Amino acid sequence: MSRDAPASDPDLLRDAREAVVEHAPALAALTPGRTGNLSVRDGDAVAVTPTGVRYDAFDADDVPVVSLGGERLAGRMAPSSEVPMHTGIYEHDRPGAIVHTHSPWATTMATLGRKLPPVHYMIVSVGREVPLADYAPYGTEELAANAVAAMAEADADAAILANHGLVVTGPDVETAIENTHHVEDLCRLYLRASAVGEPNVLTDDQLATVEERFESYGQRPDAE
Ligand code: 13P
Ligand code: ZN
Repeated sequence: MSRDAPASDPDLLRDAREAVVEHAPALAALTPGRTGNLSVRDGDAVAVTPTGVRYDAFDADDVPVVSLGGERLAGRMAPSSEVPMHTGIYEHDRPGAIVHTHSPWATTMATLGRKLPPVHYMIVSVGREVPLADYAPYGTEELAANAVAAMAEADADAAILANHGLVVTGPDVETAIENTHHVEDLCRLYLRASAVGEPNVLTDDQLATVEERFESYGQRPDAE
């Protein structure tokens, strides 16, 4: 465990660091062991899970804070090895939070080198498909660039990382975790269906209708 971060403002990004502590244990249901990571952005800084630490084994003072340039600003522990991927995505798209997992069904897709086509309407939570980002070693700028490029080209809030796992963004950490579950469930559905036959894929028109309906889905306080 590294506790060699520069002495710095313990209150920096306090809410985001507490959100990381609160939500990191949810990764245990998605990804094996200490794999995966999670981050929350506040302005031009990011609170991120520490590298190689169990998700229930750190507190807010431990949580590393990095700038979008990757510079360590605060936190007792060393940040995730995937900081380049997190900051690369934030610089491109500026979501509120990012979740990365090696969740088993998405990682099966990653191993097969397959993107997730729109076989179920719930895919519109993250886009019209989940693209496949080209393989690069974990923790590299190359992996960051491949993830950003795949998400940008598909206009999606998620990407399957070839031979590695999954990355999902959201406006906040709760949504990013929820959407990670959606993508994982859709990968499972797709692979099960593919084991029996050729899954039907929704058309652009069908997806556009779902996107429209999603705009008014759920509880709306002003609705009659
Ligand atoms: P960290 O523990 O450094 O976040 O790495 C986990 C991982 O999944 C790397 O891709
Ligand atoms: Zn990983």
